[in-house]
Amino acid sequence: MTIAGNVKAILSELPEGVELVAAAKTRSPEEVLEAIEAGVGIIGENYLQEAEQVYRVIGGKVKWHFIGSLQKNKVGKAVRLFDMIETVDSREIAGEIDRRCAGIGKVMPVLIEINSGRESQKTGLFPEAAIAVIKEISSFPNLKVEGLMTMGPLWGDPEDSRPYFRETKRIFDEIRVLGLPGVEMRYLSMGMTNSYRVAVEEGANIVRIGTKIFGERSR
Ligand SMILES: *Cc1c(COP(=O)(O)O)cnc(C)c1O
Repeated sequence: MTIAGNVKAILSELPEGVELVAAAKTRSPEEVLEAIEAGVGIIGENYLQEAEQVYRVIGGKVKWHFIGSLQKNKVGKAVRLFDMIETVDSREIAGEIDRRCAGIGKVMPVLIEINSGRESQKTGLFPEAAIAVIKEISSFPNLKVEGLMTMGPLWGDPEDSRPYFRETKRIFDEIRVLGLPGVEMRYLSMGMTNSYRVAVEEGANIVRIGTKIFGERSR
């Protein structure tokens, strides 16, 4: 299948209201353009430098989500390029996003990354820490919490991901009913190539797909 064919197949399969983020790490601007022409409206990037290269060719005709691990010294650049940062996992990084956005008059929509597997080597906040951090950062004027993101297990049977997705949805609902001022729980970003169907069943309304669109990555 071509990239365009893959995109069309995924888009026709996703239920109404579920948004597709094309995870574009290691892909060329030409590959990303093909996906956009087939209907992708959101590009997910993990690396700032790579994102800038692709952005130079494609520009603002699509939305850009940052889905990688964000270092504090890169936040200034990231807030200019991206429309959403899906991977906020500390008060410090949220504070830096807020400060940098204030400098350019922008309010950044963010998702809080949850370490739903409670694995120490993984990124994201443990579920119980997430609520405390969200309470703290909800008053930041130049950042808006709009939901949660999680990775889940990277390999294995898609069914292995289900408990992680279910736990993240539970936290999502728990935070939503708190009705925190300034927090709007709209987006739940879960699921990748091997697990997006399970993620959608468990309530995801953003799925981040790379391999199934662009093919296997060589690095
Ligand atoms: C690479 C990546 C994806 C997509 O992974 P695939 O298995 O290629 O679909 C999704 N989310 C994040 C954060 C990624 O880095």
